[in-house]
Amino acid sequence: MNASNSIPSGIAVLGGGPAGTATAIGLVRLGYAVTLFNTPRRFAALEGVSGRVAQGLRQAGLDEALAALAPSSPRRVHWRGKESAINVEHLIHRPAFDAALLRDATRHGVAVREARVMGWRETADGRVAITLESETPPFFAAFVVEARGRAAPLDASRVRGPETVSLLQYWRPVNGTATGNVRSAVQSFADGWGWLAEGADGRRYLQLTFDAASADLPDKAHLAGFCRERLQGLELARDFTTDAKPEGSLHARACTPILAGGIAAGRSLRVGDAAVAGDPLSGNGIFLALSSALQAPAVINTILRHPARAALASDFHVQRLSGLFYRFARAGRDFYAEEDQWPQSPFWQIRQSWPDAEPLHREGRPEDVRIAQRPVLCDGEIIEAEVLVTPDRPLGVWKLDGIELAPALRLVREAGTAAEARRKLAEYAGTENGAAHLLAWFREGRYL
Ligand SMILES: Cc1cc2nc3c(=O)[nH]c(=O)nc-3n(C[C@H](O)[C@H](O)[C@H](O)COP(=O)(O)OP(=O)(O)OC[C@H]3O[C@@H](n4cnc5c(N)ncnc54)[C@H](O)[C@@H]3O)c2cc1C
Repeated sequence: MNASNSIPSGIAVLGGGPAGTATAIGLVRLGYAVTLFNTPRRFAALEGVSGRVAQGLRQAGLDEALAALAPSSPRRVHWRGKESAINVEHLIHRPAFDAALLRDATRHGVAVREARVMGWRETADGRVAITLESETPPFFAAFVVEARGRAAPLDASRVRGPETVSLLQYWRPVNGTATGNVRSAVQSFADGWGWLAEGADGRRYLQLTFDAASADLPDKAHLAGFCRERLQGLELARDFTTDAKPEGSLHARACTPILAGGIAAGRSLRVGDAAVAGDPLSGNGIFLALSSALQAPAVINTILRHPARAALASDFHVQRLSGLFYRFARAGRDFYAEEDQWPQSPFWQIRQSWPDAEPLHREGRPEDVRIAQRPVLCDGEIIEAEVLVTPDRPLGVWKLDGIELAPALRLVREAGTAAEARRKLAEYAGTENGAAHLLAWFREGRYL
């Protein structure tokens, strides 16, 4: 791929959550010297993820973090006044998970430093100067990855969703013993929704989410009592609060959906929540963080080693993250819209129409499928290639199981008969089975 032999000097990654550590490891794998700066989170959160996060962690080399995922446990959902089928999620105790992420990064050769980043700027000689709380002079790097999550500074060009806040209170069983009943539940109420969970140690994490702009929340001194009262009114919460009592202070977490501006600018790239932070209802924050981090090393590698393709690589990163942001926002909107008990409540009204009225998926017809040039990720770089573009997949699909799709579709379109199409595809894919698989995929996706 014409990689030049000169590897630019070190890259600094700011923030050691899933996005920062996965990006740092990916960059080390591409031959870069990486220093990661992180300060630990100031409170113990519990979060839930779906099984596909495991795949992302494995791909990123985050094996210790993967081992910190609890086995899947039942999740009850109470929406529209009734309980739907139970599904499952893996609970994550963030302090243990976050510590495992940093051990993974160290094991892969990332220089991990515990230090608070105060800011950074590009210097006139083309480097980035990072200011740390604990030391002067600044740390210099060839490139900076902004991965400080929601703590990363935002510029004015961001997109903000409905202002949202979650109030988290821990509860402990009064007799101090763990039930071993690892589980979680989601329940809607008139001006928000709650996520209720019990970890393996018996500790309960009861989190209530409100609209920060319209909710009539009391002052700080009365918030804990307010949440306790609210929990008493929630059917599923009783199961978590019986024979338990609140422990420690209440934590407020900002969780407004945000698509940052300046995601790829100059010698910097944003990943994870620093780039796209979603609504916690989707439970997809860690998945999104890993998705952005798995592509980021190739983007940075292209910007540094192939400056002629820097704009292409930046576009690839920005378009993919923006596409993910709107996809998850629209999926969230449709889930909020299913809740029809409180049509007058500002919480529900705002979320049922944000971000827009665009459908989550656009039905495609074979005649809408186009072959076009788009940036794609190939062997640690971003290159331009022919892809299949549909109304539902405007960024295009390049390959299926390693086989380029655009030439395959062209062969089928140019064939006079179905038999000829099959024969040509078998030649192209190397086997009859390969041809059958491609044809089935084209038909299922309405490419043919
Ligand atoms: C209320 C709430 C509930 C959520 N529930 C879920 C859920 O159930 N499932 C899910 O998948 N996601 C959930 N999320 C989202 C999830 O927490 C994030 O999407 C995910 O952690 C983002 O990863 P990240 O690496 O981008 O950032 P983070 O995980 O936030 O990591 C950023 C790191 O940078 C560090 N840092 C910050 N500032 C500095 C600084 N100045 N200097 C050095 N280090 C710094 C932080 O301490 C942290 O270690 C929830 C979020 C909220 C707010």
